[in-house]
Amino acid sequence: MSETTENRRCLIIGSGPAGYTAAIYAARADLKPIVYQGLQPGGQLTITTEVDNFPGYPEGVQGPLMMEDLKKQAERFGTDVRFGIVTSVDFSSRPFTAVADDGKTILTETVIIATGATAKWLGLESENKFRGMGVSGCATCDGFFYRGQDVAIVGGGDSAAEEATYLAKLCRKVYLIHRRDNLRACKAMQHKVFTTPNIEMVWDSVPVEVLGDTSGVNGLMVKNLKSGQERKLDITGFFVAIGHTPNSEIFKGQVELDEQGYIKTIRGSTKTNVEGVFAFGDVQDHYYRQAITAAGTGCMAAIEAERFLGS
Ligand code: NAP
Repeated sequence: MSETTENRRCLIIGSGPAGYTAAIYAARADLKPIVYQGLQPGGQLTITTEVDNFPGYPEGVQGPLMMEDLKKQAERFGTDVRFGIVTSVDFSSRPFTAVADDGKTILTETVIIATGATAKWLGLESENKFRGMGVSGCATCDGFFYRGQDVAIVGGGDSAAEEATYLAKLCRKVYLIHRRDNLRACKAMQHKVFTTPNIEMVWDSVPVEVLGDTSGVNGLMVKNLKSGQERKLDITGFFVAIGHTPNSEIFKGQVELDEQGYIKTIRGSTKTNVEGVFAFGDVQDHYYRQAITAAGTGCMAAIEAERFLGS
């Protein structure tokens, strides 16, 4: 075995609430897990602000702080948390092989996949052109830069509704653009949106072009899908909140995925179609997608891995 090859019992790929919870349980079960943190250490909660719905925090908690605490808790029991990305895997025989971008090859008895999901973009050329110059995928990260200005956000789910109300606290006016005439967001979030005076709904509409120059965004063309009419919104910031894509690219051909790329698991468990490989959190869940469900399924995965190794 070369210096860059390691033998392990448990490899955890990904470091959101799912990955760290699995790590806490796996470490306490003496599986001596490694966690490769991935592209966004701490996962999506590190780009959010207040988390109000995670049990145990009556006053809410800042997302990045919660993830730092989860990491410390995993490390307290001996988890080897590594900054880096797993770039390829081979699940064709056990021990499984995973190659990371730090040059390490891990031979492991079990793999726990917690790679989460990534925000989607509309796919407009102008959206790409102005990304980072007025176009953003994260209102809570970038909203601050648009204090007192007029901005627009596209999407109709909880993310768009939540980010619109967040932006409304900072900005003069927020246009919330949705392609249908009712929001997908939960009723409580809808109520917040509809009772915030500086949010204007732009129903049945889609953005067609982001306008701007070398100093950044200065407008957005939106098209009403019912009338076909186009309208220019005078804005300086444009936020995209239209959902997520599962981070499952490296697992294609290794475990079974559904048509949207989410990893398939056996109902009521985190088991994939490969014995010894477990998946949970947002990379296999397109329904709940909550920090608490990710953490809960992280716990399940670690217990299933432990029992698999003991069987
Ligand atoms: P989502 O629920 O999938 O909503 C995506 C929204 O974007 C939908 O309204 C969809 O329109 C719209 N959309 C998708 N593609 C589009 C396109 N190409 N052009 C224009 N609009 C497009 O995603 P999400 O809001 O990110 O929420 C994901 C999950 O996280 C949900 O389960 C949500 O409940 C959860 N979440 C919870 C909280 C919280 O509890 N605090 C906060 C954020 C998110 P249609 O409605 O027409 O499909």
